[in-house]
Amino acid sequence: MRTDVVVVGAGFSGLAAALALKRAGARVRVLEARDRVGGRVLTRWLPNGTQLDLGAQWIGPTQDRVAALVARYGLATFPTAAYGTPTVLWAGRRYTEPPAPTDEVLALLDAYAGRVDPAAPWTAVEAPDWDRRTLAAWLREAAPDAVAARYLGRLLAGGLLAAGPAEISLLQMLFYLRSGGGSGMLLGMAGGAQQDRIVGGPGVLADALAAALGPDTVRLGAPVESIRQDHAGVTVGTGGEALTAEAVVVAVAPALAGRIRYDPPLPALRDGLTQRMPMGSAVKVHAVYPEPFWRADGHSGVSTCAEGPVTETVDNGTPDSTRGVLTAFSYGDEANALRRMSPEARRGALLDALVEIVGPDARRPDEVVEYDWSADEWTRGCFCGAVSVGAWRAYGPELRRRVGRVHWAGTETATRWAGYLDGAIEAGERAAAEILRSPLA
Ligand SMILES: Cc1cc2nc3c(=O)[nH]c(=O)nc-3n(C[C@H](O)[C@H](O)[C@H](O)COP(=O)(O)OP(=O)(O)OC[C@H]3O[C@@H](n4cnc5c(N)ncnc54)[C@H](O)[C@@H]3O)c2cc1C
Repeated sequence: MRTDVVVVGAGFSGLAAALALKRAGARVRVLEARDRVGGRVLTRWLPNGTQLDLGAQWIGPTQDRVAALVARYGLATFPTAAYGTPTVLWAGRRYTEPPAPTDEVLALLDAYAGRVDPAAPWTAVEAPDWDRRTLAAWLREAAPDAVAARYLGRLLAGGLLAAGPAEISLLQMLFYLRSGGGSGMLLGMAGGAQQDRIVGGPGVLADALAAALGPDTVRLGAPVESIRQDHAGVTVGTGGEALTAEAVVVAVAPALAGRIRYDPPLPALRDGLTQRMPMGSAVKVHAVYPEPFWRADGHSGVSTCAEGPVTETVDNGTPDSTRGVLTAFSYGDEANALRRMSPEARRGALLDALVEIVGPDARRPDEVVEYDWSADEWTRGCFCGAVSVGAWRAYGPELRRRVGRVHWAGTETATRWAGYLDGAIEAGERAAAEILRSPLA
């Protein structure tokens, strides 16, 4: 079958690319490995109607692309629950805010981030040093003490990239901060990236995008195994079948794009990039209670922890449900340690951590719901891929550089809100624009 453009992946990026191409008059086919669209979003409903977003859940100010789509498809949002005071667990003690001046470190990071071009982080004057240095090493020098360094490492590398602070470079952190508009915006609840949720979950928006593409555009259950290109076109292989087109948009994370077979093989530097952009490692667990008991005690359910298996928690209740939902996030080494445990031991470790944060009532949830994106064949980690230490300068220029008829999308290739739904949409629209500007290789 011949078409103008094949899009690989029906996440937000692939769907946005396909819509932009279709609106410009191109014939488009989207091939999606899973039996659903949406990618890294997945909503589960409890029998009483409580909405649990197991993947992406928040949208916030300046995420203009996702906001525009929410408005276009008439979807409703609700604010993240906000009652009471937050908890900071710090060296065995409880506070409502970090007891050390962490704001100054964040301000310094934001100032450095201002010197990074999010479209070309490797061009920063200090890039040779920032690319080599890990965030952990930088924090050891910049933070007021060892606990503050650990706390900030967990919050920044973990909370934003689901990685350990020794796994990412200072340059990767600065790129991410710049791309999302600074630490306040990225870490913030109201007024920040965690401000609102979509009624029904972000999957509802993905379904709306797929519906707007019209029937027979998205093919589900079609994992792409090979991409072959020559002077006549590009042939995309899935399950013994092939689609031929003028161009292809690969709208999956680089780590997964590297698992497709290319003919001719990808250039050395592009393949080198896919080898150096591992996905993050997060465990996101929802503990569901008969009611949000912590609110009565004045706790907001929002916590950040300098130690222990859980780095942060939020009150994830919805306005239309009386159930209490406490969602815990664990990242990097801590997430992997939880994965190695039996399900019972993991549940015990998580509940111990929640008891420490909001008290003994946390011990008896009605349900604990988890989903491991690292174990999912078509995601293999979250929230996104991050460029490894030392690799931005050598391989960064390949991130968006087309390889003949192959164009790259996916949130990892965004310059604004990279790693987020909004970035996924930007990346898809950018890849579509590239093709529309010069359709042939
Ligand atoms: C737990 C979690 C929490 C998050 N929280 C937030 C949040 O609160 N706010 C936010 O904005 N973002 C959040 N994110 C990140 C957000 O989900 C992603 O940035 C975004 O969904 C990425 O979209 P994408 O289209 O680039 O990639 P994906 O969603 O990964 O889409 C890629 C698609 O390609 C498919 N695919 C993969 N390989 C192949 C193949 N070989 N052939 C065919 N199809 C293939 C996949 O099945 C998938 O559908 C979170 C992610 C997770 C997992």
